[in-house]
Amino acid sequence: MARVYNFSAGPAVLPEEVLREAAEEMLDYRGTGMSVMEMSHRSKAFKAIIDEAEADLRDLMGIPDNYKVLFMQGGASTQFASIPMNLMTGSGKADYIVSGSWSKKAYKEAAMLGDARLVASSEDGNFSYIPNVDELEFDPQADYVYICENETIYGTKYHKLPETGDVPLVADVSSCFLSEPIDVARYGVIYGGVQKNVGPAGVAIVIIREDLIRDEWLTNTPTMLKFKTAADNGSMYNTPPCYTIYICGKVFKWLKAQGGLKGIQRRNQQKAALLYDYLDSTDFYTATAAKEDRSIMNVPFVTGDADLDAKFVAQAKEAGIENIKGHRSVGGMRASIYNAMPIEGVQALVDFMKKFEVENA
Ligand code: PMP
Repeated sequence: MARVYNFSAGPAVLPEEVLREAAEEMLDYRGTGMSVMEMSHRSKAFKAIIDEAEADLRDLMGIPDNYKVLFMQGGASTQFASIPMNLMTGSGKADYIVSGSWSKKAYKEAAMLGDARLVASSEDGNFSYIPNVDELEFDPQADYVYICENETIYGTKYHKLPETGDVPLVADVSSCFLSEPIDVARYGVIYGGVQKNVGPAGVAIVIIREDLIRDEWLTNTPTMLKFKTAADNGSMYNTPPCYTIYICGKVFKWLKAQGGLKGIQRRNQQKAALLYDYLDSTDFYTATAAKEDRSIMNVPFVTGDADLDAKFVAQAKEAGIENIKGHRSVGGMRASIYNAMPIEGVQALVDFMKKFEVENA
């Protein structure tokens, strides 16, 4: 069996131990005589899976008791609408910082539904940096301030959160979920699609302060998009994506065995340093994100020559390095080095980059 080093931005690499365990349990999940895919979401076995997943996530992230964990459907993109529909219920205003395509999409969706204000944008620099949060002024009347904490395409990350006072901060953490410890209490809502750092596609995890789950929402908000529906029904108003939740649960346990979020952060920093140190040591490649805003999850880089970039991607594939092509809005290459990417994978990439440089410089 040949496993490649998969640098996909998402769906992305999962821990091999998790995949093996899931394979072992495929035909008979712990004596039930069926796969988790086949069992009722109301069964005792599945109830234990979802409860344990939530408990492990709470433990990993240190989620305070006044926050709910919701497993919702429709990916992160559905949250672009759910967030304004559920939260724009006070002043009807929200402040958005646009630092890439994902926050831009979220802003557009909110602007369709209510009074969304663009507080800052880094589009002038093709989203290669995060706007300086110290220079921003937020509307104290806003129902929330919105950021995308790690922009997957441009490889930028907030290393400092905006100070929003009493206004709740809402963050899309899809591509940095569980990559490092965070202080949950700094946020009103933390959410993300799980298909990068947590599990297979199909779930958005929403961690929300209880007082933000209200009995109010924008007119015509569908039942399925209300946070209250998910909260009141233990994320099982309807059939949830059971298999995805099951794998997420296994990934949470895997993370605990890696020393929790501190342990995984240490490894993520080592992996990112390996790649960035090399990128900084050569003129052959350029890392496209502003140095001070670099992500340790997504690392875009270019040679500056589109033909050479294409050659790199093709030859990398032959060397067992998959999905390294950059997003079309940046071009070049992008290495997504999520939690489950082993350091050996990053080393293999750097070795390949060095060889390619010698052969093509
Ligand atoms: N936010 C971020 C930061 C993302 O990277 C993505 C997907 N790549 C999305 C939102 C959209 O996620 P989904 O496909 O689950 O809707």
